[in-house]
Amino acid sequence: MFNFAQEQPLPTSKGSKCLSHPDEEAVNKCKSCRRPLCVKCSIVKPEGVFCCDTCWNKVKKFQDRLATIQTKATEFDKREASAKKKTRLIYIVVVLLLIGCCCWLFKAHPDLFDTAIKTVTPYLKKVGIMK
Ligand SMILES: [Zn+2]
Ligand SMILES: [Zn+2]
Repeated sequence: MFNFAQEQPLPTSKGSKCLSHPDEEAVNKCKSCRRPLCVKCSIVKPEGVFCCDTCWNKVKKFQDRLATIQTKATEFDKREASAKKKTRLIYIVVVLLLIGCCCWLFKAHPDLFDTAIKTVTPYLKKVGIMK
């Protein structure tokens, strides 16, 4: 259960003593409750150094939840990006269709544009856009 290897020693204030062993120099701090720990009290886990399994589980649960949140956030970003891509694609298709329609109209009814311009010009002149 105890692992004396100090893989991730946390900085401790110099001269602080272990809470459970007042004669022992504190070499670590619990990553969860921050209490100073001597070598005997340090429980080294992949997540850091802890004073007890309760503290370890607290940090582990927190990190697990954090990982889940990060995974969800990444998934959300991906979904949003693909949705944006879809919107852009629809926009491009609509613009192309509009251009196609204009080309088709111009080819089929060349006089339609003349009529349209003739109809619109007086209004434009009235508003002051055209002179
Ligand atoms: Zn603790
Ligand atoms: Zn101790």
